[in-house]
Amino acid sequence: MAKSQFTKPFTQQEPIPQKGIDDAVELLATGRLHRYNTIAGETAAAAVLEREYADYMGQRYSLACASGGYALHIALKAAGIRPGDPVLSNAFTLAPVPGAIDNAGGKPVLVEIDENYCVDLAHLETRMRQTGARFFMLSHMRGHIADMDAVVNLCKRHGVTLIEDCAHTMGARWNGRRSGSFGHVACFSTQTYKHLNSGEGGLLTTDDDEIMARAIIYSGSYMLYARHGTLPAPEHFAQVRLQTPNYSGRMDNLRATILLAQLPGLEKNCARWNERYQALESRLAQCRQIQLPRRPEAEFYVGSSLQFRVEALQPDQITGFIDANTARGVELKWFGGAEPHGFTSRYDSWQYIEERQHLPKTLAVLATTFDLRIPLTFSVEDMDIIGDIIADEATAAVG
Ligand SMILES: *Cc1c(COP(=O)(O)O)cnc(C)c1O
Repeated sequence: MAKSQFTKPFTQQEPIPQKGIDDAVELLATGRLHRYNTIAGETAAAAVLEREYADYMGQRYSLACASGGYALHIALKAAGIRPGDPVLSNAFTLAPVPGAIDNAGGKPVLVEIDENYCVDLAHLETRMRQTGARFFMLSHMRGHIADMDAVVNLCKRHGVTLIEDCAHTMGARWNGRRSGSFGHVACFSTQTYKHLNSGEGGLLTTDDDEIMARAIIYSGSYMLYARHGTLPAPEHFAQVRLQTPNYSGRMDNLRATILLAQLPGLEKNCARWNERYQALESRLAQCRQIQLPRRPEAEFYVGSSLQFRVEALQPDQITGFIDANTARGVELKWFGGAEPHGFTSRYDSWQYIEERQHLPKTLAVLATTFDLRIPLTFSVEDMDIIGDIIADEATAAVG
């Protein structure tokens, strides 16, 4: 019998909703793309987006930025990082996270993950004690949310400022509370592969007046900050406005317009991702060669990607397994490779981090971990085909 084949591309997103296209065309006709280029009585789309996203998050403030990585950078700056400060971060993340720490003048201190892809809380506390770090940039990598009550407690006990990287948890919750509302600041990405798509873009949210005032000035607001969609009282700007450099990283009205049209559909899309995730998960769960992460009940995740392990695979079988899946149209990413590949890199490839760090637990987990995107252009039925192929190849590889 011929082997089944999957033919849809793993990187194809859905089109921008028609309203977003129409509104974008209308905006283009005005020429007023810069967020501070408005006429009398007009509120810039970037400011409207800030108001709406803050409301969506249940936070007081939101800031529209040029990218998620940029938001992470100014979040650290606005939270008061000083040159050379150690910044904790889970080792399983994407390169923009240590990049933002470096850009803010900090030194990444990497923390182990557990077999469910969440930060290892015992190691986190050890590293807090050892380094005296005042910042923890927690990356909810691939949408896996650690026990946030425990994380917040640990941070409180050690006087650590928590910054959440929610690039993969926009729309997700822990115990009913939105991911991104646990720390002092949270950052989101609206880059094409995330949960909202404006090509590039980022959103920062916080409840903190001082952090917000500084973040707005850092973002390149000149003395036009009063035009922002969510704004701390004037006294918070009195000093900050002259003492904070302009790191120019604003979002423009075109991207904001595209995002405003997508925001009302976000919750529904999260449910669509989960429908697909759960279909694939239940198919893979039937294959005894495959190990899936345990997802706690308190975690309302957004299943825009799925991670699994084939623990019985030997190092020399990994590429064969990936190639066999690729040959049948299933694109798997491997975070265990010593050589960075595509968007994927293992922490030890970030060689600009001065202090060499060895994280055996993380390496062991990643060694047999595979990752796949679940774009909404895939149907629920597609997930069965993909699941069959992966289970087939896992069985063929390790028997
Ligand atoms: C995409 C991403 C970022 C950064 O977002 P950009 O908008 O691409 O700068 C940060 N963290 C993680 C985990 C990401 O996947």
